[in-house]
Amino acid sequence: MAGIYIHIPFCRKACNYCNFHFSTNHQLIDQVIKAIIHEIELQKTYLSEPIETLYFGGGTPSLLNRAHLAKIMDAVKLHFNLMPHAEITLEANPDDINNEQLNYWVELGINRLSIGIQSFREEDLQWMGRAHNADQALACIGLAQSAGIQNISIDLIYGGPSLSNKDWIQNLEIAIKTGVPHLSCYALTVEPKTALAHKINKQELPNVDAAHQAAHFAILQEMTAAAGFEQYEISNFSLPGKRSIHNANYWSGQFYLGIGPAAHSFNGLSRQWNISNNALYIQSLAQGIVPFEKEELTLVQQTNEYIMTALRTIEGIDANRLDAIAGKATFDVILKDAAHYMNDGLLVYNHPHLCLSSAGKFMADGIAAHLFREEEAN
Ligand code: SF4
Repeated sequence: MAGIYIHIPFCRKACNYCNFHFSTNHQLIDQVIKAIIHEIELQKTYLSEPIETLYFGGGTPSLLNRAHLAKIMDAVKLHFNLMPHAEITLEANPDDINNEQLNYWVELGINRLSIGIQSFREEDLQWMGRAHNADQALACIGLAQSAGIQNISIDLIYGGPSLSNKDWIQNLEIAIKTGVPHLSCYALTVEPKTALAHKINKQELPNVDAAHQAAHFAILQEMTAAAGFEQYEISNFSLPGKRSIHNANYWSGQFYLGIGPAAHSFNGLSRQWNISNNALYIQSLAQGIVPFEKEELTLVQQTNEYIMTALRTIEGIDANRLDAIAGKATFDVILKDAAHYMNDGLLVYNHPHLCLSSAGKFMADGIAAHLFREEEAN
């Protein structure tokens, strides 16, 4: 099984913390969609497996009109073997969600929404620079559910400057009460060159605080577990049977094709990424060339990629899988490196799985880095 990701590089407004690839100038939308459709055709041999998931991300795919989305869907169906019950996700912002849009999304076959709520509190939405308000954040979920879309994920951000522990608890209580079966919750990160970084440098906003974020993470784990959610990946929580198939496949090393400016693709042996420039992307596709850079992955890179992604999941590193990628007995070497984390209660080994403990999950990236293999010197 494989997945296709389509990157829609346009947003209504630039959020203060965001460093994704997008433009708030919409003049090129029609041309980018045309180029995306051309790229779908040119990349039709990249994946030979049936397509189990299709994911519209961005940017803000919910600002596309019906004709844009319909043309992309038609092109995917024409050039790939999209499975009959494929998971088809659309990332949507609350200010784009209304009955008319919902109806045509359902008609086009979109069966899962990932809604960028971020917070139910006006004060947070203000400093984030979001295009929606607190009323829209809550109302859009009910609208989507009434339109028949039950498979809904909502994004929330914690550890930000205006969010106390009590506020975070309230945000989670509201989220859980909506009945959505999936939550994606991210610690606020301050990316260089964003408006947020600028405001922090000018001391208009306080910097993020690791202890504050750790407290929010502990609250998140406790409240979601009590509500029956499984933390199947560091930042992702689902009710039984409601994991994101697209993202779960990505974390388990399945192949995927990324279409659109800045989109990434992976086929096990190499990864490639399209140019992050809308005008150049259009120009190149007009000449029949997909503009990407490519990196062939060494065995050590493939191994580290597996360690990094697997450790973030509830299943952890599988000894058999690791040995299949990196050669027999690699897992034994990893176990030696993992010993002190096991002694500290941050990693748990239950053969054949090496997993992060609840406390270890807050330090996933640092622990993974210590388990990485190194290229042998020539
Ligand atoms: S809507 Fe999403 S992609 Fe667009 S600027 Fe905001 S966070 Fe970034």
